[in-house]
Amino acid sequence: MKKLLLILLIAFAPALAQGQSGIAPVTGGDAPPPPRMDSSINAPAAANIQAAADFLESMGETETARTIRTRLANGDISVGSVDDGNAETGITGHTTIDRTWISTSRNWDPNNNGQWSNIVSLSRILFHEMIHTRQSSWRHYSSHSSQTLGGENSMEMEAWHATFVEMQDWVDRLKRDVKNASNGAQREKAREHLKFVLGMYRDTIRDYRANGYEENTDYLEDLRNLLDRQYREVEAQLNSTTTSQVQRGTYGSQGGRDQTRFGVFHDSVNVSLGENACPNH
Ligand SMILES: [Zn+2]
Repeated sequence: MKKLLLILLIAFAPALAQGQSGIAPVTGGDAPPPPRMDSSINAPAAANIQAAADFLESMGETETARTIRTRLANGDISVGSVDDGNAETGITGHTTIDRTWISTSRNWDPNNNGQWSNIVSLSRILFHEMIHTRQSSWRHYSSHSSQTLGGENSMEMEAWHATFVEMQDWVDRLKRDVKNASNGAQREKAREHLKFVLGMYRDTIRDYRANGYEENTDYLEDLRNLLDRQYREVEAQLNSTTTSQVQRGTYGSQGGRDQTRFGVFHDSVNVSLGENACPNH
């Protein structure tokens, strides 16, 4: 028996060796091409989308962060021009981010408060768009048809509502950061972050109400007012901290947005997202 095995081994040895070399790269056109990012995504754009995914992960959104990274690597996210200057996810699931929401010239630094706010704005947009990637093409079609006929847009309602819940979670987490800060500088930084997210959340509600996706949004006005009050409280707390160890100048005015493209609302980005805040459709 052992002899037979030995004979077999000797007989097949060349074939086995050949088999090994047969594992070498497949030539010809059958192999699927490796995943590739969209050609509109340069190094800073990729880094800024990664920074947004990192932020979402830090907020407990591990699955959304993973989806963003995978879709970015597979070329399913691009930077371009979107009709109303926001972002969109088409029926095929491809997401386009308007240039106004992402820098393609420099990597945003999350340790700079102004650039942190840019990362968080982009995170909100990507979070919303990733909800759309999970909705069926039928849902896209029926929702837009419904709105065209003067009805509600259920896919947008779902995406906006989910984003509200998500931003509420960011607010809660940042409030805890303020409370648990171990020194004044850390507390002030957490307050700056909290103020930005409260303002962004408040203005997103305003924009949602203006979009008409949902028939009656009066119930949201109390929430918007509450967020506005909280925003002003945090602002007053920041203003009263005159012996700050944090360099105030790094917030907003040194923000990461490209001056030429973002000049319109560059100065207001850390206070309110302004009329350009509506990120979605
Ligand atoms: Zn949308």
